[in-house]
Order: sequence, then structure tokens, then C-alpha cells
Amino acid sequence: MVVILKQGVTKTQIEEFTNWIQQQAEVQVSAVYGAQTTILGLVGDTSAIDIDLVSSKDVVETVKRVQEPYKNANRKFHPDDTVVTVAGDRTIGGTQFSVIAGPCSVESEEQIIEVARRVKAAGATALRGGAFKPRTSPYSFQGLKAEGLDLLRRARQVTGLPIVTEIMSLAHLDLFADVDVIQVGARNMQNFELLKELGHCDKPILLKRGLANTIEELLMSAEYIMAGGNHNVILCERGIRTFESYTRNTLDISAVPILKRVSHLPVVVDPSHATGITWLVEPLSKAAIVAGADGLIIEVHNDPSHALSDGAQSLTPDQFDGVMGEIGRTVDFCGKTL
Ligand code: PEP
Ligand code: MN
Repeated sequence: MVVILKQGVTKTQIEEFTNWIQQQAEVQVSAVYGAQTTILGLVGDTSAIDIDLVSSKDVVETVKRVQEPYKNANRKFHPDDTVVTVAGDRTIGGTQFSVIAGPCSVESEEQIIEVARRVKAAGATALRGGAFKPRTSPYSFQGLKAEGLDLLRRARQVTGLPIVTEIMSLAHLDLFADVDVIQVGARNMQNFELLKELGHCDKPILLKRGLANTIEELLMSAEYIMAGGNHNVILCERGIRTFESYTRNTLDISAVPILKRVSHLPVVVDPSHATGITWLVEPLSKAAIVAGADGLIIEVHNDPSHALSDGAQSLTPDQFDGVMGEIGRTVDFCGKTL
């Protein structure tokens, strides 16, 4: 971190400021005295320093971070790729490519079992399905809640697929005790109390990027979970809000290589929520694989036109078979295994 001081600050003021900053974090401070300006270089772990607080000090002209504010998620401090164990020998990250597939919402036993069987047969590595649904309208289907989780467990029993499902409230945490991967949805990416609590469990967390959040904000949210001790974080790019209206969101494909470069955490792409359109799932899945993603999360429904949520972006099991063929070929091409 570099702090440029205002013109005319005295030696005593510089000393006071240096003492203050060293109470904030363990850093070494070196000063460069110019004719008009003094520049302070802060070396060490500056992640605990509140840059806005530093800016607000009377003696400070400007402050600039030269190191990222996230430490646990940073590849600089953890050069090797993190491979998250999902269940048994199933992992996400490394040379293995993962495909999490299933309906937006769990709707009934027949529905979830049928979809689970079909996606498993097509080569999916985990089953998704929402039991608690974050819907824009309070009048829309809100999910089967605890019953939905029971049905997911039944589908896991039948197929052996690990289950991935979204948590919306801390109050439900106990219900998620035997879920394999807990999803934090886009709308909760900055629910910091939820993130902190998830930092105290040892479950894999699939953390989705918020609709209007930067890559750095996503990494800071991962940092919240990791700072609590849970390092099993999987990042998910699921599209962001832009001025483009053809698609539901805009898939930020560049986020994939950027996240892979700056962080060691696995990265999964959600082409379903990114586009909202079934026919775009295949090309964007291929783009994600080539861009370096570690996996995909795709919505599949046995009867999309009657789905209780996100039917327009859900593939039929037959369509998913076709998309999986393309995914398999692309994964092969990239030297990974499905
Ligand atoms: C979902 O996975 O069904 C979902 C609600 O996703 P997102 O949080 O990305 O909108
Ligand atoms: Mn959905």
C-alpha cells in the first residue's frame, strides 16, 4: 500500500500517522521525502487496513493498494490449484471437470428422481435443485423448503449423485447438515453474516457472483468464508447485469481466466442463469470449458414448459444428452477428464 501525504505535513504528524497505521496491521513503513511531498510505502499484510479510514486522515492526500485485499483466496499465497472434495472421491477442481445438473426447483419426488436419473446417465457429476428459492416476486413459487431437501436426499440415494442446493437464511443451517455442497446464490453473495457462519462449517460452498458485483467483490466474499476457516469454496460466474437485453444476464467469460489467474479456487460457470435461453447453454458451456472453467452448473427439467421456475432456460433431458456430448468432446480437447 502506498500513502501519499499532503504537502506541508510535519515530521511529528508523519510519526503519529506511522504509529497509528502500525496499530492497524503488522506492516513496515518506509518514507520517501521529496521537496514537496512525502510518500509512505507500507509493506506486509495490509488486508486488515481500511483504505477509506486511511483516506479520511487529515495528513493523507491519496492511498493506493498495490496488493489485493484478499489473502486466503489469493494465488500468490497458495500457488497450487485448490481441489474441493464434494463427497467420497468426487472433487471439483484440478484436472477433473464437473457438471452439476438438475432442475431450478425441486418440485416433486417423481420430477427430481427422473431428472437425477437422466442427468446421471448423461454423465453429470452432481445433482442440483433448489428447495429454498430466491424469487423476485413473493407470489411466485418459493420452493418446497425442508421437503425439497428430503426429496434431494432421496434422489441422492437412488443415483449416488452428490447434491447441491441453495441456502437463503442462517436459520435453516441445521437443515443443510447432510447436503453435499451448499450454494450461496447471487442475491446472497454479500450476505456477510451468512458467509461468516458458513466459514465455520466444513462443507463445500458454491459461491455465486452477485448480479452487480465485481470480480474483486466475489473474491472478498470468498474471503469471508475462508477467514472463518472453511477453505472449501467454489466460485461461480453466473452472468452479470449489463445494458444488453437479449439475454437474462451477460456471461462475463473473462471472469473465468481472471479468477483462475488471481485465485487458486475452482471456478464453475452457470450458462443457464447467465443467458436465460436454452439454446445458448451449449455454446456458452463450450466457451467456459475453453476459458479454463473447472465445471458447469446447468438447469435440466423433465417438462420445462410446466416448470415452477426458470423453465425458459432449462434443457430437457434429451437436450442435455446432446449438450453433454459436446461438453465431453470439449473437455477432452482441453486435456481434462469428465
Ligand atoms: C439458481 O441457481 O437457481 C439461482 C437462483 O441462481 P442465481 O443465484 O445465480 O440467480
Ligand atoms: Mn434457477
